[in-house]
Amino acid sequence: MTALAEALAARIRATGPMSLAEYMATCLMDPFHGYYATRDPFGAGGDFTTAPEISQMFGELLGLCLAQAWLDQGAPAPFTLVEPGPGRGTLMADLLRATRAVPGFHAAMRLHLIETSPTLRKVQTATLGRSEVTWCDRMEELPEAPLFLVANEFFDALPVRQFQRGQSGWHERVVGLAGDRLALGLGPETALPALDHRLADTRPGDIVETCAPGAAIAGQIGARIAAHGGAALIIDYGDWRSLGDTFQAVAGHAPTDPLAEPGAADLTAHVDFEALAHASAPAAHARLTPQGVFLDRLGIGPRAEALARGLSGAALDSHLAAYRRLTDAQEMGTLFKVLGLYRPGTPPPPGLDP
Ligand code: SAH
Repeated sequence: MTALAEALAARIRATGPMSLAEYMATCLMDPFHGYYATRDPFGAGGDFTTAPEISQMFGELLGLCLAQAWLDQGAPAPFTLVEPGPGRGTLMADLLRATRAVPGFHAAMRLHLIETSPTLRKVQTATLGRSEVTWCDRMEELPEAPLFLVANEFFDALPVRQFQRGQSGWHERVVGLAGDRLALGLGPETALPALDHRLADTRPGDIVETCAPGAAIAGQIGARIAAHGGAALIIDYGDWRSLGDTFQAVAGHAPTDPLAEPGAADLTAHVDFEALAHASAPAAHARLTPQGVFLDRLGIGPRAEALARGLSGAALDSHLAAYRRLTDAQEMGTLFKVLGLYRPGTPPPPGLDP
């Protein structure tokens, strides 16, 4: 049993079963034993890898997309460039390098990273330096100014609650104990008007997920974009509306039981993009677009060819494999989606349809 498993079991004995959201938040961000709070999980030697760690092309293209959106809105200055959950800082480093040639962009930019993990803040400092960056814990700390934001695999890390439809109401799925082991159970059936919109597409026994922190953060982003201008690119796995149990754990690049080793595995859930889009109103949202289609429209093909010209042998093979991994329908191309938010009355960010 991990130290965190024992602490969670003690908490359940004292106060009863906890929501999945409380379990997830504790496992990821407990200051002493939390998964993100205590380690750098990315890359071949870690637990999982992400698009910016796969190829520099990802951050470059997202950066140029945001810079074009900035130009399309009249190049407002100053503006806030924000990345929540920047991991190792790789995406931001690639974005900054690619946008250096855009006249005025860096001079007008105030860079803010939103990161709660002290360990990852150190890694981000090593990647990006300290001079240009302001770190924040929360979206609320951002200045009231035009906002250009990119978030990759951030919203999937935010805690979800799960509800199973009963005969006349909903049962929350909770983490309790079976003997000494953590086990999932069902809370009592209660009426939940907040889930009325899911009555049409569910039947008794079906599970739906809600992510209150995700909606609150999307609300903060949308309010700034609508009031001051700006755009956001939110990339993650999920769909327009999530249905069923998508709560999952990964350790050492393989799926594992989410209750088995709290604090030692990454926990995520699919993103419900419809919920984020609605919470971001009055900002406008573009049509949800598969990552492969989006990167293709932004010109990943010619960029991959240009980079390939300088490579040979194993380096060329791994570059081509990275290109396929980001774009192929069987790899990340279709599972991952892009939600674009933008100021009403302006064009959506390049690569996205209104
Ligand atoms: N965007 C990066 C990392 C994704 S992993 C990439 O693509 O590689 C999730 C990131 O979100 C980590 O940096 C984690 O520490 C951070 N994070 C998770 N929950 C958070 C929260 N509630 N507030 C701020 N950052 C959070």
